[in-house]
Amino acid sequence: MATSRWCWRPTASTSRCSIGAVVSPANPVLTAGEISRLVEISKPTIAFAVPTTASKLPSGLPAVLLDSPTFQAWLQLQGGGEHHGDEPAAVVVEQSDTAAIEYSSGTTAAVKAVALSHGNFIAALALIYEHSRRRPLDLDHERRRVLQARPIATSMGFVHMLFTPALGDTLVIMSCAVEEEVRDILGMAERHRVTDMTVPPPLVVAMARGEAAGIDVSSLRRLVCGGAALPVSAEAEFRRRFPGVLLGVGYGMTEAAGGISTRFDQAKSSRLGSVGHLSPAVQAKIVHQVTGEHLSTNQIGELHLSGPLVMKGYIGDDKANSGAFDSDGWLKTGDLCYIDQDGFLFIADRIKDLMNHNGHMVQPAELEQILHSVPGIADAIVIPFPHEELGDLPTALVVAPYKRIWNVIFVDSIPRPPSGKIMRRELLRMVKEGHGVN
Ligand code: AMP
Repeated sequence: MATSRWCWRPTASTSRCSIGAVVSPANPVLTAGEISRLVEISKPTIAFAVPTTASKLPSGLPAVLLDSPTFQAWLQLQGGGEHHGDEPAAVVVEQSDTAAIEYSSGTTAAVKAVALSHGNFIAALALIYEHSRRRPLDLDHERRRVLQARPIATSMGFVHMLFTPALGDTLVIMSCAVEEEVRDILGMAERHRVTDMTVPPPLVVAMARGEAAGIDVSSLRRLVCGGAALPVSAEAEFRRRFPGVLLGVGYGMTEAAGGISTRFDQAKSSRLGSVGHLSPAVQAKIVHQVTGEHLSTNQIGELHLSGPLVMKGYIGDDKANSGAFDSDGWLKTGDLCYIDQDGFLFIADRIKDLMNHNGHMVQPAELEQILHSVPGIADAIVIPFPHEELGDLPTALVVAPYKRIWNVIFVDSIPRPPSGKIMRRELLRMVKEGHGVN
């Protein structure tokens, strides 16, 4: 989705190529209702979609179908240097102007629109540039291929999309990575001889377990894992199995575009579990959750941040903005952390409500709302049940006065024979044997 002024500016001979639009990526796996909510808060003037997502857009929002013959023909003309339409007025863009609107649950439940400025992304890109300069891959640009294994609508995916071409590398984009299985992602890495990936922990866990067997991932040189905690055992095992792959850990959040901290150290096992050193673009303090007192090394408190990565704020949500920043104007991350005597940052817990399932943020309140709408459920609450590999397992405590369902199992699909006769005993056997159970 794009917001604000909509115009296009052919730039074959001009140096100023900004069209002044603000981009707002929406995850294609969202439901129509969820997309409508995003549209309500970010108020786009036009949407770009493919047929599977266009049907989820609210009526009245003009949309461009990216794979329509008309749009493809227009692209061809642009590629050939032919300009169509009126030349738009020059747009001057300041670093403080909003460049993108991303979505986050912040430290509470309701979804919020995060305004990130051009300055935020310039700082994020400068950091990544510095990282890649300090740890260069011994490959020319032609052979450096980065797989976009996270959806562009996530903060990690969005920054990836910007920095890969900016560094002159090749970006391999998956159509909808959030739905992809580990073997699909690794298969893509094999097919395109991918050298770099930024991935959520389950992919590293799967590779550590040997699930890459039979897939040629020998082109891989660097893997950065982030979005949720990486189990220490998986990290150690991954390093043992793939000594030729530089494994890094990154910690970031939508409200602070780009990496808050990273760790690339290979050897020191005492640092496993840490999310590394704070990036140079970040100032941080650890604050007592109740008293607001500043804490020192090895004391656990909430991490507050300041610096050029920190968002402008939430759009149209004064209440959320006043809760997001402390009295010094520093961003409250909602993460309980400590910093050890050598400056390594550790995430101990989370204060915020939202659950982190497999690197995806899940709002307990949203699930509770669905449960409350089910007749027969008197009360329900969703809690984050810890799971070593998947992070939080959203788990519901349900009060159902009678005719209770005791167990819910999520499956890929339910086999329904043409006769309509469901073989319940057969299903029970499948479930017991674990077939198709997520
Ligand atoms: P998001 O805004 O969706 O990118 O989620 C940001 C949140 O994910 C952070 O505030 C942390 O709670 C969590 N997170 C991100 N990276 C890590 C990591 N490497 N280890 C543990 N938690 C992480």
